[in-house]
Amino acid sequence: MAKVKTSEIRSIIEVLRRAYPDADCALEFQDPFQLLVSVVLSAQTTDKSVNQITPILFSRFPDATALAEADPVEVEGILRRIGMYRTKAKNIIELSSILSKKFGGQVPEQYETLLSLPGVGRKTANVVLAVGFGVPRIAVDTHVFRLSNRIGLTEESDVTKTEEALMTAIPVADWIMMHHSLILHGRSICSARNPKCQNCVLLPWCRRNGLEPMNTKNTTTKAIEIGDLKLGSGTVKICIPLVATTEMELWKEVEAVKAATPDLVEWRADLCFSKEPLELLRILKDLRGKMQQTPLLFTYRSKREGGEGSLSESDYMDLVSSVIRSKLVDLVDVEYSCAEERIRILLQESASNGIISVLSSHRLTGTPSQRKMEAILEHMLTYGADLPKLAVMAVEDDDVLRLLAASERIWKKHGMPPLITISMGDKGRLSRIAGGQFGSCVTFAAGNDPSAPGQIRIEQLRNALSILSL
Ligand code: SF4
Repeated sequence: MAKVKTSEIRSIIEVLRRAYPDADCALEFQDPFQLLVSVVLSAQTTDKSVNQITPILFSRFPDATALAEADPVEVEGILRRIGMYRTKAKNIIELSSILSKKFGGQVPEQYETLLSLPGVGRKTANVVLAVGFGVPRIAVDTHVFRLSNRIGLTEESDVTKTEEALMTAIPVADWIMMHHSLILHGRSICSARNPKCQNCVLLPWCRRNGLEPMNTKNTTTKAIEIGDLKLGSGTVKICIPLVATTEMELWKEVEAVKAATPDLVEWRADLCFSKEPLELLRILKDLRGKMQQTPLLFTYRSKREGGEGSLSESDYMDLVSSVIRSKLVDLVDVEYSCAEERIRILLQESASNGIISVLSSHRLTGTPSQRKMEAILEHMLTYGADLPKLAVMAVEDDDVLRLLAASERIWKKHGMPPLITISMGDKGRLSRIAGGQFGSCVTFAAGNDPSAPGQIRIEQLRNALSILSL
């Protein structure tokens, strides 16, 4: 088995925290006693099944004293729908009796004492301590055991060693969250027989121990399809950025842009009057409604990449992640200047949510050498983004030619996925018209106002493209 590195564990924790922000115990209970009984009943049984019978059980026997004096036949009758109901009925009556006689009907908070109760093993004791009393513990059930070893968090063959290894590998503050998240992930994505690795947010880090190797060859041989729109097939597609700074202007701009019928629309959220992520999401929801079927690209361009966005990198990441999970957009821009692990997390979240990722890099002061631009595009491709985008500033007359040459070389070498390559500024305009012949599948046109230097108005761009028949 292969293990993940310490730095990768940090990413895994972060990704799971984002994927399951409300991760919690699925059992329904009112107090530590009901929790303890519910966890004992959940052995070899789903939480859902337990939740169906515990309301009846606890309405008849609400506390340890009542359950200690219960008729075993009646308790068995209530538990009859879950597995091993006779043994479980016996155990919960006996443990209630002990709690009633020795602990005043209360559940003890000591691990060893819990373990001495009938039907209580390590997992049950850990869940009761973590969920009932907030004591940091990692309970290893079948999901936690399977995922820990598959992912490579641990490489142990038994539950006890897995628990110890997890407590060593994971920071104490994350023990409870990781326990719940791994269970939810095991139930929804990483099942025992059919793990959905292609849709898994942990794929970039997971060692997939014990599973058949995946086909890692880039199998993207088709155009990127968004409804009827095919990027990388046929003519270069025209995208108009929405650049309004007030909400009223934005809705006017939307109507004007829709009338111009671009192939897709980009919302430059960094230019918006509001800097509050929640407000941006509210506007995005309205924008999605107004754009109807027109494919929508969300971009929050930071100052370091030439935009107006002033969010810190972690706040930027939270915003983009929220946009991805909202599924209100078709494409999302992820900035190449972010930390590598953050890029990987956002790209994986995009893939898991069916959103096309545009990994973008902007060189604002000039055009690097052709070799350097090819290296940037090659490196972007290693991230597995759907659309690598490189925009450079044309300063010298031949800068645009170098950009087009780099674009064509990478495009011909890899074929798919398609690229977006732009030479900005007046001297780079050729790339906005002829880029399609050199592998760029999208060109940005100005609607009301340009969002970048050198953008051509959509009517003029359409004419130029039709003359070139691109
Ligand atoms: S990548 Fe596959 S094996 Fe790994 S956690 Fe995800 S679903 Fe499970």
